[in-house]
Amino acid sequence: MEPKNTQQQDNSFFGQPAGLQTLFFTEMWERMSYYGMRALLVLFMTAAIQEGGLELTVAAATAIYGLYTGAVYFMGLPGGWIADRLIGGQRATWYGGIVIMCGHIVLAVPSDTTFFLGLILVVLGTGMLKPNISALVGQLYDEGDDRRDAGYTLYYMGINIGSLIGYAVTGYLMENVGWHWAFGAAAVGMFFGLVQYRMTLPKLRNVGADAPKPLSPRGQKISWTIIVLFLIALGGVFTAVATGAMTIDPVAIAQQVALAATIVFFVYYIGIFLFSKLTKNEAKRLGALFLVCIASICFWAGFEQAGSSLNLFARDLTDRMVGSFEIPTTWFQMLNSGFLIALSPFFAAMWVNLTKRMINPSYGFKSALGLIIMASGFIVMFLASQAAASGMKVSPNWLVAVYFLHTVGELCLSPVALSAVSKLAPRRMAGQMMGVFVLTYSIGSLLAGLIAGNLDPENTETMPDMYMQITLFGVGVGVVVFLLALKTRHWEKLAGQPDPEHVAINANEPVKQDKA
Ligand code: GLN
Repeated sequence: MEPKNTQQQDNSFFGQPAGLQTLFFTEMWERMSYYGMRALLVLFMTAAIQEGGLELTVAAATAIYGLYTGAVYFMGLPGGWIADRLIGGQRATWYGGIVIMCGHIVLAVPSDTTFFLGLILVVLGTGMLKPNISALVGQLYDEGDDRRDAGYTLYYMGINIGSLIGYAVTGYLMENVGWHWAFGAAAVGMFFGLVQYRMTLPKLRNVGADAPKPLSPRGQKISWTIIVLFLIALGGVFTAVATGAMTIDPVAIAQQVALAATIVFFVYYIGIFLFSKLTKNEAKRLGALFLVCIASICFWAGFEQAGSSLNLFARDLTDRMVGSFEIPTTWFQMLNSGFLIALSPFFAAMWVNLTKRMINPSYGFKSALGLIIMASGFIVMFLASQAAASGMKVSPNWLVAVYFLHTVGELCLSPVALSAVSKLAPRRMAGQMMGVFVLTYSIGSLLAGLIAGNLDPENTETMPDMYMQITLFGVGVGVVVFLLALKTRHWEKLAGQPDPEHVAINANEPVKQDKA
């Protein structure tokens, strides 16, 4: 089918609806703050007290890091639900952003006690913002609008421009000015995001303006009471830990959260099948989406080695000297954002071209491909770690090749999967389903942490085997997903149940050609 290009179609942001501009820049700044801060986290926690750090052990710091990244995405589930049933995606994004900014402001205060309060605020805010802003992108398009995949690819590029700025700015400030200035820069980034969100909000029109399936007034009252009680309990636990009345073991908690996230994911998904009064077609479309989710979990479990085992491989086993210049360890992670920005336009064009030629690979197929390409990156790590086992530091080109393959895999799977969620989930549960999908990030990140625990740079002889196992596992699951996708691709094409109250807003309203 030719992409529709009728007079009514709003093309004002690089051929995409004007509302994408609002979401693109808001998410860009949010990700600048998220990744900018995340890049410092383990370094700050393990740095000596006289260097201004917390002087935690590596085990505790990496567990807290895993817990933090897992929790950020875990909270996407209640965040998505709150938007669908209580306040709508626009407000969830706005308040989520404010809470994130407050979290970074708290982190900028040089005090150990408030440090964890800052992290908690970022977790709560991101849970509100992240799934909902991603769901709003999908709501800019009609059911049959072929620009959806390209739109998500563009949006994903914004995510990575943000992360690139974040790594560069906070990395520089951390080394040259001080930790808390770097944390403060993340707050400023989120502030820019909020200002531009407010200023360009009219471009969203009423997409996400209200909860698509609001609870009854009584239900709302009960929900708000539960939310407030939860926050009070969280505050209580925080105070108990901060005052030393209660001690927690971050490693044990990280394991429990990984298990909880996995259980919640399966129970929630099955619950939706059983209790959401789905039509037959809706159920099959959600079945197709389930396959994409499984691929996503396995993908992130491998990909998220970037911040942990690959980071340590760069620090300890890679020859980072170029002449007299030593490449900073964190720069290797910037390769991912850099490759992604460079390759995104090609991928966006490729999806549009394939659609024009009527070859539109299914979401399941693209996810399988992404997973297999990412896993093949670990063959490179297998070879690189064999070279490192000889005792010599290895060429940085190995990691460049790994990040290249991982980024190509990411482009096949990640923006595509976001698009799949927005297309295949019934619109009345758009936020929640994005929340369920974001749980796959949470499970993947927590599994990645557990896998990384077995990839100690001190133990180079066991590394090649480990990397080979990751490769075989990733390729194996990828092949299974591919085979199942032969079936689910038919389910993806089934028409969704039009939801008369919530048909895409932009389809029915006259469009101002707003040349932003
Ligand atoms: N880089 C993507 C984002 O920030 C994916 C995040 C993830 O860890 N899964 O949206």
